[in-house]
Order: sequence, then C-alpha cells, then structure tokens
Amino acid sequence: MGCCDTTGLMSLEEAQQQLQQAVTPITQTDTLALEQVLDRVLANDIKASFNVPGYNNSAMDGYALKAEDLNHRDTLKLIGAAFAGAPFDGEVNNGECIRIMTGAPIPTGANCVVIQEQTLADDDIITFDAKPALHNNIRFAGEDIANGQTVLTQGRRLNPADIGLLASLGYDQVTVYKRLNVALFSTGDELQLPGTALAPGCIYDSNRFVVAAMLERLGANVLNLGIIPDNLAKLQQTFEQAAETCNAIITSGGVSVGEADFTKEVLEKLGHVNFWKIAIKPGKPFAFGKVGRALFFGLPGNPVAATVTCHQLATPTLRLMAGEQYPEQTSIKATTQSTLKKHPGRLDFQRGVLSKDKNGEAIVNNTGEQGSGILSSMSKANCYVKLSRESGNVEAGGVVEVIPFDRWLS
Ligand code: AMP
Ligand code: MG
Repeated sequence: MGCCDTTGLMSLEEAQQQLQQAVTPITQTDTLALEQVLDRVLANDIKASFNVPGYNNSAMDGYALKAEDLNHRDTLKLIGAAFAGAPFDGEVNNGECIRIMTGAPIPTGANCVVIQEQTLADDDIITFDAKPALHNNIRFAGEDIANGQTVLTQGRRLNPADIGLLASLGYDQVTVYKRLNVALFSTGDELQLPGTALAPGCIYDSNRFVVAAMLERLGANVLNLGIIPDNLAKLQQTFEQAAETCNAIITSGGVSVGEADFTKEVLEKLGHVNFWKIAIKPGKPFAFGKVGRALFFGLPGNPVAATVTCHQLATPTLRLMAGEQYPEQTSIKATTQSTLKKHPGRLDFQRGVLSKDKNGEAIVNNTGEQGSGILSSMSKANCYVKLSRESGNVEAGGVVEVIPFDRWLS
C-alpha cells in the first residue's frame, strides 16, 4: 500500500468503538483517606447527608434585623453580636438589631442583613441609611447543596475541588477503583537506553518514556519491562510475564507491515491480535488484541505516531477500564496562520500552537515539519489541528478545528 492509497483503512471512530467494546471495567476498589484520592476514580455516588450551608447565615459583615422594621424607623437598638462559630442565641424583635459577621448564623427573628457601610453606630444606637429588602445578604441553608443530593457520581476522576467538596460534606475517606496495572515495553534491535553511548545505526528509546509519563498521569501502576529485541523467544516470554499481572499491555514498534511478523506469531500463540490500518496521520499501523486477560495495544514505532495513538486510542480506553466514562474530546475553531499541507484520505492530527490575536480571537500556527518521527513537534505544540479525512491543503486564513492538549498530553 503506497502512502496515498487509503482504501480499506479503518476510521478512528470505528477503532475507538472496537476498543471500547473490548473493555471490562475494573471492579476492585480501595477505601482511602481524602489525602490519597487526588486523580483517583470514584467507585460510587456521593450524596450529601445534610444541607450546605447547614444553616441560614450572613453573606456580609453588618447588622441582622427585621427588614420591615425599617419602614417605621431608621434607628435600631444593638442587643448583641453573632460571629461565625459563636451564634447569638436570643431573638431579634422590632426596634432591635445585632452585629453579625460573615458566616454567622442569622438569629431568630431577623430576616435580612444590612452591610455596615450603610450604617452609623453611636454606642448601642445604629442608624440605617438604606431600606433593605427581605432576605438581603442571607445565604440560605441548602442553597449550595441540599440534603440527599448527589454531588459526585461514580466514575468521576477526583480533582482538588472535588476533594474539598467531600471534606465540606464531612467525608474523611471515599471508595475509589484500584489503579490499573499496565505493562509497557519497546521493541526494536535499534533501540538503546538513554545514558548509553549510541552504537552505529541505533537510536534512543523515547516512546517508552512518553507512554510511561502518560500512564503516570492516568494513575496506573506501570510495569516497565524495558527494551525487548526483535527476538521471538524473548518477546513471548515478555508478553507472558506482562499478562500474568497486568490489565493491559502497551508496546511500541513492530506493528507496521514487514515488522509485524514477530508480534503476530507470538500473539497468535498467546491470545489474538488484529493489525489495523487506521485512517489517521500520524499513526496508521496499530495492533490491538488480547493476551490472557490483558488488553494489548501495539503502538507504531515512530515517536509522534506512538504518542498520538497512545493518546487517541489507548488512553481513552484505559480510562474506561479504570472506571471512568469514555471521554469526549472537546475542540474549538481557530484561524490558521500557517498554510497546512495535507493529502485527502486520512484524518490528520497536525501539531499546532494555539493562541489569541490582538482582538482576542483564536489563532493557530503549525509547529513546522509534521513528519511522524519529529517528536519535537509534539513537544512544541499545545494543540492538535484536526483536519478531516477529505480535507486537502488549508491556506493561511482558513478556519480549522483545534483540539487543545488535555492533561494527558500537556
Ligand atoms: P517500527 O514501527 O518498529 O517499524 O518503527 C518505526 C520507526 O520508529 C523506526 O524508525 C524506529 O527506529 C522508530 N522507533 C521504534 N521504536 C522506537 C522507540 N521506542 N523510540 C523511538 N523511536 C522508535
Ligand atoms: Mg521496529
């Protein structure tokens, strides 16, 4: 198949669907203290067991009183004070007010708070400049969260605010799904470890570092098995070791035409594998299968192709397996300032830098050379420019779809 022959390629959506269908989400859980659950995936719904706020309280520093009282007079007698944590336990009657601080409970009888800037205090006689409306500056019980309301749902990956919310509801621990165990190795006789002197014709293994970093963001336990040479026995032994303990296996290299023979032979013994040709660029060759109970993702060797397929195919599938929903990808429109070269036939994930022009409109530049081996293009970029399968070249000034890098890439 030549570079531009795109008949019979599988669409990205079709590949993503097949991956989703193969997933069995994890069911094992850990119950952990709040300090340990950042980025973990909730295993059940969380409901509030009380109102938040728990009581009507003041939104401002000022005076609590009966709003209608100031229709008859403009001075009131100060009879006490309420602080956050130290309520006023008497009642406010006509002709009276209390000093109240932000967060303090509204005392019985009062129905509004007048801010202190609209008052004048002369000993215990307070003069009011304003006629307040009923309920002014009161935060009502349950206005943030009502007792019984579901505040976080199963499958939620917990962010810092979520953890604060859990604390505000009195939870000191929650149940989350166990981390996935993911095995990772690179294949190729030409690969060497960084830190060693390069032999002629060799390159450093970079893919494993990209994928390991993405898996770390995903919260997986990574079984990093290093570089495996293109050797049948060694490959088989490594797959067997990985499948013993892992939910998924990710490899890079050895899935393109002519390269796939070893992987194919091994996986036909140990499980099964499909070699897909996906209509995306970079990233056409991709292998997917099962080894024992582990899902197998065979990424192409070219570094940008490995990164893009890991991000577009492996990561969302692993998120589903980790207990999350299959994620939607958000995109925006931007005007390209670069001319974008493209042949119709495959969906392009070109690398771009998204910014704003002086009017605040979204603009995008490409990162230069777009070859699938140019990893610096991925490092410079903060977004993909996603060009449809049918699209040809796009001239500067054209409007394109841009996918800002999410946390798995940035
Ligand atoms: P392959 O998919 O094995 O045919 O590899 C395609 C290209 O990607 C070749 O130029 C490889 O040298 C290169 N490559 C394969 N694996 C890696 C890796 N782990 N890190 C960097 N480049 C790689
Ligand atoms: Mg190879």
